Amino acid sequence: MRRHILITGGSSGIGAGIAQIAASYGYKITICGLESEDEMTANITSLDEAGAGSVSYYQCDLTDGMAARDFIKQAAAAMGHLDVLVNNAGMQHVSPIDEFDSAAWDKVIALNLSAAFHTSAAALPMMRAQNWGRIINIASVHGLVASVNKAAYVAAKHGLIGLTKTIALETANSQITCNAICPGWVKTPLVEAQITARASASGQSVEDEARQLVSEKQPKADFVTPEQIGEMVHYLASDKADMITGAQMVMDGGWTAQ
Ligand code: NAD
Repeated sequence: MRRHILITGGSSGIGAGIAQIAASYGYKITICGLESEDEMTANITSLDEAGAGSVSYYQCDLTDGMAARDFIKQAAAAMGHLDVLVNNAGMQHVSPIDEFDSAAWDKVIALNLSAAFHTSAAALPMMRAQNWGRIINIASVHGLVASVNKAAYVAAKHGLIGLTKTIALETANSQITCNAICPGWVKTPLVEAQITARASASGQSVEDEARQLVSEKQPKADFVTPEQIGEMVHYLASDKADMITGAQMVMDGGWTAQ
């Protein structure tokens, strides 16, 4: 039986890369995001062509916890089962803490942390019933170390790692695992917005700012790719990884080795 992987925020960036790799391994795939169904036509065709067993897209705002739970139940029912949940949807807001907009704080926490609580709570009873499941949280190096001006993001990602460990302990008596992946810089719309903002502040070219942004933090001064993260998801989702639980898989070009 083909496994069903559900990737929140699978419509863009890292989530789209994870979906593409999952398609190449023949998973049944559900993705969600803020984009309309029409905007997703090309993505769905590309996943079908890459070998996905079946592809569904849901437009869903995961900052609404109850909507997040309903989405999980609906997507699982539509495919008949849910095997791998990837909590990937996330956002950034950059500001010094004393100027940090409180609505932006609430939204970053709701999406980057609370959504994973709601989706996991909805998925776990189904995973327990089939005595097999994988929850993979796309955290960040910012779940392990901080950077200036990213208070909500850093707090949410540290919280997500705490949630990961707790779910791992609560499922340790079953064939369910829960792990976090902690990427360094990945060139996606989330990071491109930061590069553009830096370039307009400094007057440097976008290319120079991108190079500088990566080399400030990462000894290996290249971007991590969404596909590399997709391969890590595939490994953690496999039976070979059944003794890995509660872990933080760091993919950061040496960022946190310093
Ligand atoms: P992205 O902006 O390319 O994609 C974000 C995705 O989340 C999109 O699919 C979007 O539709 C979805 N989304 C946004 N708001 C949503 C909402 N309210 N409800 C439902 N879906 C929503 O971002 P990305 O860089 O691919 O980031 C994906 C994840 O990876 C995030 O959790 C991010 O924190 C994490 N991450 C990114 C980097 C990086 O360098 N890009 C590094 C480490 C971790």
